[in-house]
Amino acid sequence: MDTEPVRQLTDEEWFRIFDEADELGISFILLAGGEPMLRRDIIEAAGKKPGILFPIFTNGTFMDERYFELLGRCRNLLPIMSIEGEREITDERRGEGIYDKLISNMDELHRRNLMFGASVTVTTRNIRQVSSDAFLKKLSGRGCKAVVFVEFVPVTDDSSELAPGDVERSYLRDEIARLRRDHPEMVYISFPGDEKSSGGCVAAGRGFFHINSHGGAEPCPFSPYSDVNIRDASLKDALRSPLFMALQSGDILLDDHDGGCVLYEKRDLVESIINSVGKI
Ligand code: SF4
Repeated sequence: MDTEPVRQLTDEEWFRIFDEADELGISFILLAGGEPMLRRDIIEAAGKKPGILFPIFTNGTFMDERYFELLGRCRNLLPIMSIEGEREITDERRGEGIYDKLISNMDELHRRNLMFGASVTVTTRNIRQVSSDAFLKKLSGRGCKAVVFVEFVPVTDDSSELAPGDVERSYLRDEIARLRRDHPEMVYISFPGDEKSSGGCVAAGRGFFHINSHGGAEPCPFSPYSDVNIRDASLKDALRSPLFMALQSGDILLDDHDGGCVLYEKRDLVESIINSVGKI
């Protein structure tokens, strides 16, 4: 049987989402990928919504003069560039020459007095380097204002040895507390991790939700399940989807946990909910 290919949301569909978000008073929309800077029209449309802050999680490779100009005109667009640590580990994961491109982007953004941040995927391999004073001083010296530590969450069992365990999480938590105290020149965000101090998991519309590139409304990028597509529903209705309602009404999101991802740990339960409400 032929199945229709899944298509990405069009520019117009994203524009509608931004309009609805603006009307609902949403103040932050994180653009992530894939690579969001491949969709220039969408980034330009985001720039026209000054009431919403758009952190753009980018690999930095498509940043060019046109983007520097756009970022200069639209200060609500905040590039957050992915870096994995020093040159060797960044190039090993992201490709030869990427570290130098990121450093050159940072220098250009700094020269133009534009705000930017860095995003680091924290693994068992790079945890000590990316939380070290040496690495972070290098970023702040180049004008970086925020560092987002994203804990590696395995999607397959064979990559699970890279996922921080209890010991590494506790180490990272202590290091971030130290950095916030001793180096307040940058903002440090940990994900998952900060959920513990903000009263539990904030997915499924409790604090935010995720729209995937095909329009599926998901609790969180780490919990990629969906029972509603934003093409067929308003943002307001998507927030009331049966899956989101089930997650919000139980104690799943609020369950005490050790700092890892609650919904990843409880993926069997989320799958049973999605099977009972009907997945798309
Ligand atoms: S689903 Fe996991 S990563 Fe997402 S907000 Fe909840 S605890 Fe954090």
